[in-house]
Amino acid sequence: MSKIWYPVIDYEKCIECGACTQKCTHGVYDLKKAPTPVVVKPEECVHGCHGCGNLCPSGAISYVGEVKQKSENCGCSCGEGNGGCC
Ligand code: SF4
Ligand code: SF4
Repeated sequence: MSKIWYPVIDYEKCIECGACTQKCTHGVYDLKKAPTPVVVKPEECVHGCHGCGNLCPSGAISYVGEVKQKSENCGCSCGEGNGGCC
């Protein structure tokens, strides 16, 4: 993987449902700690994959390396995206 991409868990939001640790087949999460999601092999994460994040019921998973889409309402070229200048 040339680009950095791996999940980051917001433990304030996580309800430890285990959906993410069950979903991933790449060994990114430490299954011994499941259902608590603990990322142990971020380098094994598939670039662009949202498999675990899409299943998360509490929106606790974000991704290092993800480029936020620009707001549709933002017509400028600030490059800040959502929550930026507009
Ligand atoms: S994004 Fe995909 S590959 Fe990466 S930890 Fe989640 S399910 Fe696994
Ligand atoms: S899917 Fe979301 S709420 Fe469930 S264990 Fe993973 S991070 Fe926590």
